[in-house]
Amino acid sequence: MKLFIPGPVTVRPDILEKMSTPMIGHRSKEASELQRSISLKMQKLWNTNDAILLSTSSGSGLMEGAIRSCTKERAAIFSIGAFGNRWYQMAEQNGLNADLFEDEKGEISKPEKVEEVLSTGKYDLITLTHNETSTGVQNPIYEIAEVVKRYPEVIFCIDTVSSTGGVDIDIEKLGADIVLTSTQKCLGLPPGLAICTFSDKAIAKAREVENRGFYLDLLAIYEYILKKDFQYPSTPSISHMYALDYQLSYILEVEGKVERYKRHKQMAELVRNWAKTNFQLFTDEKISSDTVTCISNNKGIDVKALNENLKARGMQISNGYGDLKEKTFRIAHMADTKVEDIVMLLKNIDEILCL
Ligand SMILES: *Cc1c(COP(=O)(O)O)cnc(C)c1O
Repeated sequence: MKLFIPGPVTVRPDILEKMSTPMIGHRSKEASELQRSISLKMQKLWNTNDAILLSTSSGSGLMEGAIRSCTKERAAIFSIGAFGNRWYQMAEQNGLNADLFEDEKGEISKPEKVEEVLSTGKYDLITLTHNETSTGVQNPIYEIAEVVKRYPEVIFCIDTVSSTGGVDIDIEKLGADIVLTSTQKCLGLPPGLAICTFSDKAIAKAREVENRGFYLDLLAIYEYILKKDFQYPSTPSISHMYALDYQLSYILEVEGKVERYKRHKQMAELVRNWAKTNFQLFTDEKISSDTVTCISNNKGIDVKALNENLKARGMQISNGYGDLKEKTFRIAHMADTKVEDIVMLLKNIDEILCL
């Protein structure tokens, strides 16, 4: 089955093989080396010198860890869809003070609005979604970052779950404090591991926060890594670590970042052009994601039936997310999917729908 859904993605066989590397003790020298190697490669991928933390959880784990560990006063949650709203839910359920600034589905978070909100001086943390997977919108994070930089007291958190590995994330340029992702999207691994950065500013802020929880306390993880040579407080998914270390070498040295991001753009353009010819893009093309395209079902096709037909042919796309189900559908073009795979998928959809 070829997956064209925005995670989990189809995983290359050589990566799956790495997942079955024989176990080592998580307190061994080898474990330290593996984890150090991953940190150095993630710093290269993200262009940062900030500490790298791994979490044996999906990306949501680190979202919750970030907001809980680093909000002392009040969090400003900027949302353009389901995943933005998830931050707010986490803030609420952890008893944090937070306000939700939600834009309409299909829109971006506006830099002017961020300016207006942060200028109140009420907030010490802001969250942003880079690539809103539910609507296929890519937020202008570099533009927004220029605004956030004017508020150095605010901890800047960015969810790049569905973009890291597919779109360039330059943390030095962004000046972001916590950038997080998980393995099952553009990085092309099975689900089960999440990764984030943790800036000196975020570390200092976490020291001021009292109830940071236990498993997802980012400060506790950071301090343990520092003291125990990159090892983790609890037993991590070593299998994922082998696969991640291997895949990061592939991305950095075999395919190359530039080529990888270019391939994602090519696939996105292919899908967008097909969508414009046959349906309609859900968002303005200028703000469309390079990793997942959300298509308006303006022809009223039966998306569920289309997917059943596709499944019989060995491939799968995604229906719309939440209340956008059947009103939209989504085609992911991320991780190690090839341009040819996209061509093949679109040809099959054309055949099924007689387009
Ligand atoms: C998938 C996704 C998440 C959730 O990540 P999990 O790894 O499933 O917890 C969060 N944010 C975005 C933008 C996503 O695409």
